[in-house]
Amino acid sequence: NEEIVPNKEDVKSPPLAGANVMSIILVAAECAPWSKTGGLGDVAGALPKALARRGHRVMVVAPRYGNYIEAQETGVRRKYKVERQDVEVTYFHAYIDGVDFVFMDSPMFRQFQSNIYGGNRMDILKRMVLFCKAAVEVPWYVPCGGACYGDGNLVFIANDWHTAMLPVYLKAYYRDNGLMKYTRSILVIHNIAHQGRGPVDDFIYMDLPQHYIDIFKLYDPVGGEHLNIFAAGLKTADRVVTVSHGYAWELKTLEGGWGLHGIINENDWKLKGIVNGIDTKEWSPQFDVHLTSDGYTNYSLETLLSGKPQCKAALQKELGLPIRKNVPLIGFIGRLDGQKGVDLIAEAIPWMVGQDVQLVMLGTGRPDLEQLLGQFDSQHPDKVRGLVCFSVKMAHRITAGADILLMPSRFEPCGLNQLYAMSYGTVPVVHAVGGLRDTVQPFDPFNESGLGWTFEMADANKLIHALWNCLLTYREYKSSWEGIQRRGMKQDLSWDNAAQNYEEVLVAAKYQW
Ligand code: ADP
Repeated sequence: NEEIVPNKEDVKSPPLAGANVMSIILVAAECAPWSKTGGLGDVAGALPKALARRGHRVMVVAPRYGNYIEAQETGVRRKYKVERQDVEVTYFHAYIDGVDFVFMDSPMFRQFQSNIYGGNRMDILKRMVLFCKAAVEVPWYVPCGGACYGDGNLVFIANDWHTAMLPVYLKAYYRDNGLMKYTRSILVIHNIAHQGRGPVDDFIYMDLPQHYIDIFKLYDPVGGEHLNIFAAGLKTADRVVTVSHGYAWELKTLEGGWGLHGIINENDWKLKGIVNGIDTKEWSPQFDVHLTSDGYTNYSLETLLSGKPQCKAALQKELGLPIRKNVPLIGFIGRLDGQKGVDLIAEAIPWMVGQDVQLVMLGTGRPDLEQLLGQFDSQHPDKVRGLVCFSVKMAHRITAGADILLMPSRFEPCGLNQLYAMSYGTVPVVHAVGGLRDTVQPFDPFNESGLGWTFEMADANKLIHALWNCLLTYREYKSSWEGIQRRGMKQDLSWDNAAQNYEEVLVAAKYQW
């Protein structure tokens, strides 16, 4: 007797029609499945498809870091000045799920295939200058399905500091000169911690009229006067989006804005928080391709009680942990750095291993934290697995096989793993910040409501307290536990809702003069 949840398809507003149908070009330094280091790649791979489903003509422009078999060479060649030298780019194109994926090719990108943000500060600055300069012109030069997009009803969606120069180039090279008059730009903040900071002298590499220097200059007590690419993009873009309501609020605070809070407050009128969706083709327990072998199985709400335990047993087997149905299996997936609160987990490990639990952690990042993962693994072989690698397959399998997902992030703009977890009936225990606060309503045993456990401070004892409550419910209150799992799985976390919200921002920008 499942509760009937209204199908969101029925209540969604219809796709836009007529003059409001737009050409949308999302420009990002990474795009899943071809290149991905985190949530930005997932967003670039999925949001465009949802916008295309709403009737827009949608393109993604991303660097071509390697050979992507889906994409064909277009034959288009263009040259752009980078540090006073001509650099040639070519383009590859693939049309997938209603979206034109355009990959910009240059040795400057391919050189960094194994570490896409690698190289020194100048290396990355130069390749992002090239990427942004060229991306603005893609609608004119790269034919997709036989015809270029052109600049009518066109809007660019730039992402993070890497492409924050795009709104600036759009203005300085074109709109200031009466070109691309009706083209708009949106800048999405996925993570404010990286801003493209450098000395003011770096301005010469931007190749912009001298008076533009002022929008790049920022002063803060830590770095003094410096050049800040994110600052320039935020000031210039027609609209700014960030990936949750909680993060939109945090960005305006001294602590959460990382030196940009002043600019974000000044531009508050154009800021909107939109929670990311999940790509349900990639991430659904029912259709997950990584659950079709090695003893795993696909499952749904109907088969949760048999399918999820089967995945748990398969995961325990794959990890070489004791195969036990009733031991709570706790997972962590993510970059190993200060942001993700791995150190809080490390502090909590002595308590955790005193409990009857299993813990699997998957991540790469800071060498000291990678080493720590290895240590946990060897010190507690019957309880802890530390997997130091980037494995999409393993991430899916942990999401399906674990009972609990830990996300003690110090800050978390949106966070995707908690969304994936909930849709797989895996219960999140999270630090209540940013998108984690937006998306994980705390369990309320009196009303049998809520989706997981939250704690209010980035502190190992608070984490332990929340996890203790979670484990108690897991062990003693089976029906409450199942209720949490089912509520998580029933949510509509698809990109369709988010795409509708993005559309509102695009339309608002379009009618702004
Ligand atoms: P962020 O963008 O801050 O890294 P998100 O939670 O928004 O964090 O997105 C992280 C994405 O990267 C998720 O899709 C997650 O599964 C994936 N991911 C992170 N680390 C790994 C890893 N070691 N192996 C596989 N996938 C990973």
